[in-house]
Amino acid sequence: MNDKTGRPKGDATRVVTAGRRKEWTQGIVSAPVWRASTILYDSVADLRAAGGRDTHHRLFYGRKGTPTQWSLADALTELEPGAEGTFLYPSGVAAIAAALLSVLSPGDELLLPDSAYDPTRSMGTGLLKRMGIATRFYDPMIGAGIAELISDKTRAILLESPGSLTFEVQDVPAIVAAAKARGVTTLLDNTWATPLFFPAISHGIDLAILACTKYIVGHSDVMLGSVTAAPGHFARLRDTSFQLGQVTSPDDSWLASRGLRTMAVRLKQHQASALEIAHWLKTQPEVAAVLHPALPDCPGHETFLRDFKGSSGLFSFVLNGGSETARAALIDGLEHFGIGYSWGGFESLALPVDPQRYRSVTNRPYAGPIVRLQIGLEDPADLIADLAAGLERFSAAR
Ligand SMILES: *Cc1c(COP(=O)(O)O)cnc(C)c1O
Repeated sequence: MNDKTGRPKGDATRVVTAGRRKEWTQGIVSAPVWRASTILYDSVADLRAAGGRDTHHRLFYGRKGTPTQWSLADALTELEPGAEGTFLYPSGVAAIAAALLSVLSPGDELLLPDSAYDPTRSMGTGLLKRMGIATRFYDPMIGAGIAELISDKTRAILLESPGSLTFEVQDVPAIVAAAKARGVTTLLDNTWATPLFFPAISHGIDLAILACTKYIVGHSDVMLGSVTAAPGHFARLRDTSFQLGQVTSPDDSWLASRGLRTMAVRLKQHQASALEIAHWLKTQPEVAAVLHPALPDCPGHETFLRDFKGSSGLFSFVLNGGSETARAALIDGLEHFGIGYSWGGFESLALPVDPQRYRSVTNRPYAGPIVRLQIGLEDPADLIADLAAGLERFSAAR
């Protein structure tokens, strides 16, 4: 984490250097793509000896990885000061599933924020329920009040901050303190902030989850996930993941490592452009609220100011009244915003979102339909002109 003089490295330096151990790179700048299923041994004795070892970070069989995956996993561990290790998954959702399964057993209870990513909710109400694990949803703004929801059966609390679609910023330190007092494991979906804007492990989180598909990859062309574990949590995560047969393709891992090298500069621009556009939207009469953690409209804005080192490029805005058709008129005519799921790539996206469909214990009122924007790396002036025309179409259709 520090340079040779003991000075802490800056974010851009860290993402450039992380994971580039000589054993993984062989001296090549980027660790090459090592593709493998079979690894050959010199003798039966050699084969037997390999089987008895801890196979993590040693060539053993393709499913256990190669230096291509280890380099990326090491890099993600290095970006989380205090972490013990990282395991990679073929998607963000696979990472969330493995992290939860590494902690929970039948009879246990899980607490999930009402603002969680919808597939995470579905895991609670689907697979986990089928396994005899109960899920209780909680208000993401609950803070220290979470203590009242913790029972003797509660084994894990998942956090997602800010929340999907509506961007509530959670009081992570308060929830972590309540969890630690009762020996409950905490998991954080940290995809929005990344370790650069919110170092989760040093905030006391036990398992920090990333949909690497978003900012790590950064180019909308690879699905990948990761879980980075605090000391004492990695062995169980790794064993569970091996038992589930989780492995990522070397090519996809290599693309993610390539994406990572520019993440600090990309995030800087996503942050600046998204803030410019969010502040502009705030001045428009067609807009009732801008749900961006760095703006006061957003629940948990004060917590954001206290805990985060920056903001990324994804946020929502609430229209001032208007119908589904008027919202579609806004989105359909946009030139620079694609209409599609996911985010974190270099290109801008706009999505109609209806959080009410995915909430069970919080029912915040909104003034009108909501649009979620992913602000890409285009010139913000072009994006603002595009949105201004969109708001005119919205007004005309309203
Ligand atoms: C996209 C996303 C995921 C899932 O990642 P995939 O790689 O698409 O499976 C998880 N959490 C959040 C907050 C996301 O936005």
